[in-house]
Amino acid sequence: MIKTGLWGLRTVFGRGQVLSAAAARLQHSQAQPLGQDATPPRPETSSAKSLMDIGTRRIFNEDHDLFRESVRRFFQEEVVPYHKEWEKAGQVSRELWEKAGEQGLLGVMIPEEHGGIGGDLFSAAVTWEEQMYCNCTGPGFSLHSEIVMPYLVNYGSKEQIDRFIPQMVAGKCISAIAMTEPGAGSDLQGVRTNAKKDGSDWILNGNKVFITNGWMADLVVVVAVTNREAKTAAHGISLFLVEDGMKGFHKGRKLEKIGLKAQDTAELFFEDVRLPASALLGQLNKGFYYLMNELPQERLLIADMAIASAEFMFEETRNYVMQRKAFGKTIAHLQTVQHKLAELKTEICVGRSFLDNCLQLHAEKRLDPATASMGKYWASDLQNRVATQCVQLHGGWGYMLEYPIAKAFVDSRVQPIYGGTNEIMKELIARTIVSQK
Ligand SMILES: Cc1cc2nc3c(=O)[nH]c(=O)nc-3n(C[C@H](O)[C@H](O)[C@H](O)COP(=O)(O)OP(=O)(O)OC[C@H]3O[C@@H](n4cnc5c(N)ncnc54)[C@H](O)[C@@H]3O)c2cc1C
Repeated sequence: MIKTGLWGLRTVFGRGQVLSAAAARLQHSQAQPLGQDATPPRPETSSAKSLMDIGTRRIFNEDHDLFRESVRRFFQEEVVPYHKEWEKAGQVSRELWEKAGEQGLLGVMIPEEHGGIGGDLFSAAVTWEEQMYCNCTGPGFSLHSEIVMPYLVNYGSKEQIDRFIPQMVAGKCISAIAMTEPGAGSDLQGVRTNAKKDGSDWILNGNKVFITNGWMADLVVVVAVTNREAKTAAHGISLFLVEDGMKGFHKGRKLEKIGLKAQDTAELFFEDVRLPASALLGQLNKGFYYLMNELPQERLLIADMAIASAEFMFEETRNYVMQRKAFGKTIAHLQTVQHKLAELKTEICVGRSFLDNCLQLHAEKRLDPATASMGKYWASDLQNRVATQCVQLHGGWGYMLEYPIAKAFVDSRVQPIYGGTNEIMKELIARTIVSQK
């Protein structure tokens, strides 16, 4: 019997068959505009029973629903039971990455010819959202799949793509991207890590900090200065592919964080690392341009995960207030609690609506950087407002890490910081406002 969903498909067929079957489904899974088919319109989250219901939102269709079911099952079976253990270890297991690869959850959008399943952006969004719905922030899948892989696919040589992408899709090569340094975060043009020519090789020196997947990474895209004399710093930056085990490449501490406890955020050090010419990703001194091109997708992903996290926290809190008793009745009977839930649901649904529009625009390659920045800033701030209110509605239990809401609260805090701080998002938005007059 063929089980439904990509996950099921992979467990039934061999890999090649799965890839083509899944690719065929996902490639043809363009969302139907309202009113163009006979089936009743899909409810938006505001009118659905739960904000996490499958079968909602017009940007998705039935194929996405099947995929979502299988992704949900994967997270419930392969991630949730082990997450506490991974929080203690400060990292997830390698086995998990390989399982995710086998089930087709990594590099969902990578075309078939590069070893992916050729899914659409909406399918990738399903994987981001389902991770937030299970409240497990450990696996750095989205960074690996929809932040790092696009650099290789969009700017890499055929050799680089053939060598790394199939391994990355299989979860056998874990990836990271290293931009931030101890002295340069928001101001990327201030990076000091540098690569100097030595014959046809490059010699890389410098250090990076706060690198997601950094400890487990087999492959790191490293941002380095290659021309100090360029007319601006942005014109002298390049990207390099650095592999674990290269002489002079050291991993420092797994950094201790207030949240994202199962996520291996690390320091990386490069001491005279000799890189072959083939390690240069894309063209020399074009690195900053590539970063600017790819950052909108990173911001969209953070924004979508922020709204999904808010949706999860809302449902968690709704369940809690409906069973928690005070003064002889559940606290859901209190009008102040009801009004708070009404406010939260309204704000989340307004945010979801904007985000779904951003996803649709990005699928059509029409999402501009300022709009992506609006999504990232507003959704991640909303996530934190929702987190604060939901902890409050849980009372003292909301402060206890044994309660999912407490974990969601601490995990939320980083969202306005990484991927470009929300202050930088406002800078980017503001520039387009004043330059349009
Ligand atoms: C958990 C985690 C994971 C991360 N993962 C990665 C990763 O995988 N790869 C990677 O390269 N980086 C990663 N980062 C780094 C992250 O992107 C940076 O922390 C972020 O860009 C901010 O840089 P910074 O920490 O140097 O802060 P700073 O740049 O020092 O900023 C400090 C404060 O000053 C404000 N500020 C700075 N400039 C301006 C300005 N022009 N206008 C207004 N306000 C300003 C900022 O908004 C902020 O509030 C991660 C960070 C964390 C915490």
